[in-house]
Amino acid sequence: MFDLDYHNRPTLIGQCDACSRPCKLFALPGRYARHCLECSADIATLFVLATEIDANRRSNLNVDDLEREWAEVDQRLITRHDANRHRDKGGRDKR
Ligand SMILES: [Zn+2]
Repeated sequence: MFDLDYHNRPTLIGQCDACSRPCKLFALPGRYARHCLECSADIATLFVLATEIDANRRSNLNVDDLEREWAEVDQRLITRHDANRHRDKGGRDKR
């Protein structure tokens, strides 16, 4: 299903491939999967952090802070996914 965004551009409405929430969907460049705005931002952040961690490791620099930030963002994605999964189960149980 298509809708129009703030600038009257067509946007895809559907279910986020990460958290399953119904929403406007965004695709990162070069990626097939489509995600909600929050998951898109977190996944893009994970890509950047992974690149930085690799570069720092190659330069023998400390990556503790970057790995800690990576784990926080990753946990946020998992928490959002689990919250929506439980919400869906709750909705089905009431029927
Ligand atoms: Zn999402």
